[in-house]
Amino acid sequence: MNFTDLGLSEPLLRAVREQGYETPTPIQAQAIPAVLTGGDLLAGAQTGTGKTAGFTLPMLQRLMQRGAPQGRRVVRALVLTPTRELAAQVEENVRAYGKHLPLQSMVIFGGVGMNPQIDRLRRGVDILVATPGRLLDIQGQGHLDLSKVEILVLDEADRMLDMGFIHDIKKVLALLPASKQSLLFSATFSDEIKTLADRLLKSPVHIEVARRNATADTVAQRVYWTGRERKKELLAELIRRHDWRQVLVFTRMKFGANRLAEYLEKQGITAMAIHGNKSQSARTKALSEFKAGSLRVLVATDIAARGIDIDELPHVVNFELPNVPEDYVHRIGRTGRAGCEGEALSLVCPDEELFLRDIEKLVKRQLERETVPGFEVPSTERPEPIQIGRQTIGVRPARGAPRPPQGSGGRPSQNSRGAKPAARPATTGHGSGHGHGGGGARRSAGSRQGGHGGGQGGGQGGHGGGQGGPKR
Ligand code: AMP
Repeated sequence: MNFTDLGLSEPLLRAVREQGYETPTPIQAQAIPAVLTGGDLLAGAQTGTGKTAGFTLPMLQRLMQRGAPQGRRVVRALVLTPTRELAAQVEENVRAYGKHLPLQSMVIFGGVGMNPQIDRLRRGVDILVATPGRLLDIQGQGHLDLSKVEILVLDEADRMLDMGFIHDIKKVLALLPASKQSLLFSATFSDEIKTLADRLLKSPVHIEVARRNATADTVAQRVYWTGRERKKELLAELIRRHDWRQVLVFTRMKFGANRLAEYLEKQGITAMAIHGNKSQSARTKALSEFKAGSLRVLVATDIAARGIDIDELPHVVNFELPNVPEDYVHRIGRTGRAGCEGEALSLVCPDEELFLRDIEKLVKRQLERETVPGFEVPSTERPEPIQIGRQTIGVRPARGAPRPPQGSGGRPSQNSRGAKPAARPATTGHGSGHGHGGGGARRSAGSRQGGHGGGQGGGQGGHGGGQGGPKR
C-alpha cells in the first residue's frame, strides 16, 4: 500500500513526502479512502497510530474539492480535542499537510488571551481546531459562526468524556448544521461513546486498528522494584548511568511532578514539569526545549502528556504507576512509535502493587520485577495506602499479617513482591479489565477537585485548572 493509492491529490502527496512518510499506517490506509467518500466514520485508534494524518489529509482534500461557499472564508471544518497540547499538535499537522493548499487554519484553547484568537477568527479561517470550553466562550460572545461547518472531527472522544466535556460537546453539536460529515476517533468504546456515536454518526464506516497494548512489541517494558523514598535517586542514577538525553517521566500528581523536576535540577539534570497548572507559555517552552534536546527530562502528569507528539522518544519512565491502568498504555505508547525501538521503565514501590497487577491484567503479560543493586526496598518499608484526591487506594495489611521478604536484591521471586493489601478497594478499576472501568477514581476525583487546580486531585482531573476547573 502506497500513499499514491489512496486517492489523495498531488499537493497533499507532496506534503506527505516532505514529512518523510513512506507508507500509510493501517489507520491511514483505511480512514483516508473512507473519509474521501464523504461518509461518517467511527474509528478506534489512539495516539501513535498516525490517526491525525488519517483524518487531516482527506479532510483537506474534501474541503478543496467542494470549494468555499460563495468564495467566502468561513469555518468549514471543526476538530475538537480534549487538551490544549493535542489541539496545538493537530493544528500543526493541519498546517504541515495543507502547506501547499490555500486553506487557513487556527487553534483555539483556554489558558491564553482570548482577544488574539478573536482577531484571528475575524480575519477568516477555514479549519478550526479547538478545545470545547474556549470554543463555546468565544461563540457565546458572538465571534464565531459554526453554521457552515461541513466536517466535524471529535478526536480522542473518550478522553473528552473522561474530562467531563459531554455537555460542552452537546452544546457545540447544537451549533452545527445537521448535514455534515462527522468523524469520531476514540481509543476505547464505552457505552457513553457508543451513545454519542449513535447520536452523531449516520451509517458510519467503522474501522479499528490494533491497540498498541495488544502487542506493544516495539516497547521493552521493565519494572524496577524499589523503595518509596529511593525512586528519585534511582531515576537520577539511571539517567546518569545510561546517559539518557531525552526522557519523559510520568507522575500521578502535579505536585509530585514539580517536586521531581526540582530534585533533578538540583542533581544537575535539566528537567521541567508540565501539567495543567502551568501557564500555556511555560508548557510550550518546556515541550519545545525537550523536543530540541536542550531539556533532558520532561516530567508530566497523564492528562498534560496526552497528545504530546515526539518522534522516536527513546525512554519513558513511570516514576509512579497510574491508578487507571489504561493510562499506562497511553504512557508507554509515547515511546517505540512508528516502528522505532523504545523502552518503558516503571519504578514501582510496594505501595503500588495493586496498580501493577491491574496493569498486568490489561496488557496481558507479567512484568518481571527487577531490582537495581543498592536501590532495593528497605527492609523496614511496609506498603502504605495511596491518596488520590480524596480517595485512598490500597489498605494496610492487617496487623500481624505475614511480612514479605524484601530488599532481597537480584530478581525477587513471586512472593517477595511486597504485601498484598488486605482488601482491594473498588476504586482501582479492578474487574473491568479493559475499557473505562478504571476511570471512576479519576473522574470522581476530578469532578470534585478539578476546580482547585492545585494539589492532589487536580493533578488528574483539573487539567487547565488555572482557568477555573477541568473544562478549559
Ligand atoms: P498520531 O497518531 O497522529 O499522533 O501520529 C503519531 C506519529 O506518527 C506522529 O509523529 C506522526 O508524525 C507519525 N506518522 C504519521 N503517519 C506516519 C506515516 N505514514 N509514516 C511514518 N510516521 C507517521
